[in-house]
Amino acid sequence: MKAAVFHGPKVGLRIEEVAVPSAGRDQIVVKVAACGVCHTDLHYIEHGVPTFKTPPIILGHEASGVVADVGAGVTTFKRGQSVLIPAVLTCGHCVFCRMGRENICANMVMLGNHIDGAYAEYVAVPAKDVLELPATIPLQEACIIADAVSTPYHAVKNRARVRPGDTVVVFGCGGVGINAVQLAAVAGGWVIAVDVHERKLEWARSFGAAHTINASQVERVSKEVKKLTGGGADIAIEVIGNPRTIEEALECVRIGGRLCVVGYTKEAMSIVAGKIMFKELEIVGSLGCRPLDYRPLIRLVEQGTIEIKRLVTHRFKLDELPKAFEVMHEGVSLRSIVIP
Ligand SMILES: [Zn+2]
Ligand SMILES: [Zn+2]
Repeated sequence: MKAAVFHGPKVGLRIEEVAVPSAGRDQIVVKVAACGVCHTDLHYIEHGVPTFKTPPIILGHEASGVVADVGAGVTTFKRGQSVLIPAVLTCGHCVFCRMGRENICANMVMLGNHIDGAYAEYVAVPAKDVLELPATIPLQEACIIADAVSTPYHAVKNRARVRPGDTVVVFGCGGVGINAVQLAAVAGGWVIAVDVHERKLEWARSFGAAHTINASQVERVSKEVKKLTGGGADIAIEVIGNPRTIEEALECVRIGGRLCVVGYTKEAMSIVAGKIMFKELEIVGSLGCRPLDYRPLIRLVEQGTIEIKRLVTHRFKLDELPKAFEVMHEGVSLRSIVIP
């Protein structure tokens, strides 16, 4: 089969012929319908963030597909079923899994990071992590639920805890951020979306943002937010992973408000500690999504409350994968998917 194999930052990605994986006892093999192209892949390819498994490794962690083979111990899936593979697989027995917080599992395994991912025609995964998809959801577009929709779902619902009437500022309107906008609006939030690309701000408005701010055209985003909200937003969500933006997001939060950090950076940020105390600020992180959140999320997509079709702006064949990263750089895509 064809697969996009990462050989480390010097060589990068190569489309190669590799063996089709076989199903272990508790695994299924999924024929990949589509795999979303995520900014995380760029971290490995361009920014020197190491993958857990030493390359070569097949990248891709946002996949949907059809069950092609079933391991001897699997009773829950049949060949031909449509499925979604969560980006991160959990152990189920560590202390965090047992607390119901599987998304911070101590033994988490990520596709295209710890194990071979889904920029390939087939991928083998443990059956226990896989979710069945209803036939009414378009199978290719459904792949983006696995990360671009599920990550902000957990952030908005469980970590930022957006309630009806909350004012919510979202920094970054890319593939994940646009869904933070959409989900915060669905949760009843009054959403202000922030980005530097006018096209993305247009999309944000069409996905439920009440207001948008082009950060490149204002002196301070926090000043604008304070004007719009009369003193600061109830909640700020940062989906970029830039320490300066995270600082600015915290500046946007009102007294007693909450900052939720979804973007990843390895760099330090600086905050005046006294502000956290004196303003009773809450700063929370958000990582991935718990397995139990996938079913209600799929239901919301099925009933049309959450839109996915319009989020997929670009489609590529496997050997066109480099083009998907180009459009990501240009800021002209919301989500690209690769169809092996
Ligand atoms: Zn991702
Ligand atoms: Zn665990």
